[in-house]
Amino acid sequence: MARVNNWQIGRDMSYWYPESRPKRQFAAIFDTNKCIACQTCTLACKTTWTSGVGQEYMLWNNVETKPYGFYPLGWDVKLLAELGAQQWKGDVYTGRTVFEAARPGERALGWRPEEYDYAHPNVGEDDCAGSIEKGAAFVEQHMAWFFYLARICNHCTYPACLASCPRGSIYKRPEDGIVVVDQGRCRGYQECVKACPYKKVFFNPMTGTSEKCIACFPKIEQEQQPQCFVNCIGKIRMAGFISRPEDANPDNPIDYLVHVRKIAKPLFPQLGLEPNVYYIPPIHVPTHFTRQMFGPGIEKAIAEYRNADKDLAGLLALFGSSESIMHRWRREGDVVMGLKEDGTEIVRVPLKEPVHERVAYDASLKVQRTNCP
Ligand code: SF4
Ligand code: SF4
Repeated sequence: MARVNNWQIGRDMSYWYPESRPKRQFAAIFDTNKCIACQTCTLACKTTWTSGVGQEYMLWNNVETKPYGFYPLGWDVKLLAELGAQQWKGDVYTGRTVFEAARPGERALGWRPEEYDYAHPNVGEDDCAGSIEKGAAFVEQHMAWFFYLARICNHCTYPACLASCPRGSIYKRPEDGIVVVDQGRCRGYQECVKACPYKKVFFNPMTGTSEKCIACFPKIEQEQQPQCFVNCIGKIRMAGFISRPEDANPDNPIDYLVHVRKIAKPLFPQLGLEPNVYYIPPIHVPTHFTRQMFGPGIEKAIAEYRNADKDLAGLLALFGSSESIMHRWRREGDVVMGLKEDGTEIVRVPLKEPVHERVAYDASLKVQRTNCP
């Protein structure tokens, strides 16, 4: 095993291949506070990529209600239980990653879901954690809570799917870090299905090969954001490219939110894959839950989000404002702009939406409106 650096866990770790970073790394940010679980993203992906025979159960994008939603069943809790106690010392993870905890003869600690585990994609939808005692509903905040977690492949820096493939069929594209399965090489051993802790590789019984999210790379090559991003009703998503922390560029929206403001966090960083989808944590959920899910720094991230200044609020307003990838951004007064890599403007969004008042009686049309005060 090689020693590689994983900045998300603040230390070096063991991995099956030497550190080799792509020219640029595809990355995304999801704001969990805005997701309404409409599943438009799920269907946008489904109708684009997985409407064929053998793909019926595949959801390359899914949205589950935490804490009781899972697809497949128990994907996260089952692995976390097997991994055992996980500890952080400040920003350094002192427990074992899935590579370091692998059983003899395996490349990553994992498990393969049964058919039944895929049978109920929206299990636990809108189920709350906790209960509210009689009469207590209005005296404390959020004793009962849930939130929506939208999930795609994380196009990890250290993918467990890639590490575990005995055929070398999975690779990271050097130009953008997107992780893909070479369908010509794959022989359907399903080691990747077992190894991916996020369970984002799916076996197609009709073709006998594994398939997974490709981050809509034909769109990325055209500087466009993926289907699940541009169709998102809640405008919770932004796709782009991330730098390593020491190379962070505040003009890059992804770098700004992840490295500069530190409000977007990776999903289960302790597993050791350096996943490249980042989440703005839900602000109403007890942090003992979100900390185990998104790593340290949750309280600060929530405080920053709650007290967003004009820069932060402006950048968040750019989410979902254009189909194009915004490599740069800039705020001028109360207007925020998304820019191409060369600085050309793509879109501008006002920080404050203009207010239009509709008068109750419209003299030009001679009508009385009933939906006005
Ligand atoms: S999320 Fe899973 S399928 Fe995607 S790159 Fe990481 S290990 Fe591979
Ligand atoms: S389309 Fe957006 S708001 Fe709707 S479920 Fe998907 S991520 Fe959430």
